[in-house]
Amino acid sequence: METTCPGCGAKFNKCDGPTHKYFGESPECWKAYGQVLAREYENRNYWQVHRLTVDTYAVQHPLNTDKRNIQSVNIHLMALYAILELQQPFETIPPLLDAAANNFKDDFLYLTPPTKLGEITVLDVLGANSAPEHCTAVWDWSRSVWAAWSPQRRAIEELFVRTKPLIGSRHVRTTAALKSRQ
Ligand SMILES: [Zn+2]
Repeated sequence: METTCPGCGAKFNKCDGPTHKYFGESPECWKAYGQVLAREYENRNYWQVHRLTVDTYAVQHPLNTDKRNIQSVNIHLMALYAILELQQPFETIPPLLDAAANNFKDDFLYLTPPTKLGEITVLDVLGANSAPEHCTAVWDWSRSVWAAWSPQRRAIEELFVRTKPLIGSRHVRTTAALKSRQ
């Protein structure tokens, strides 16, 4: 029987299995993502794009309004913005995400997702037959999902601008809460 992931919209053969704590994906989709991650963990040629895989999968499963998921969508969208629009190297992304999580922890805004989150899903990545194909698929996937999120571009850009100066600060709430600006 066919089933559709409520997050990314990919279609899978139905199976049982675990899901993530708060992403809101189907068990089938979670399993496919696990297979993609396994390839990246096992082979450095796949590992090159791991950063993008994690960011893209997270923001393609944004429907759960759990506080942790709201934070996840915000910071992983910011990662895509920094990588795809500002051409920031991958190694600059973890400190950026840490700074946002540490400083805005309880104040992330729910970003209403677009109705369509792009035509490319984790299934397309799983279909790659070599490391170069895998890397190309992940880049295409990330660009497609980021383009789908373009209605929220301004909010993400603002989050980036407010976070950048905070890199390196840890657990210090020195800035005005994000929601106070609404
Ligand atoms: Zn999915």
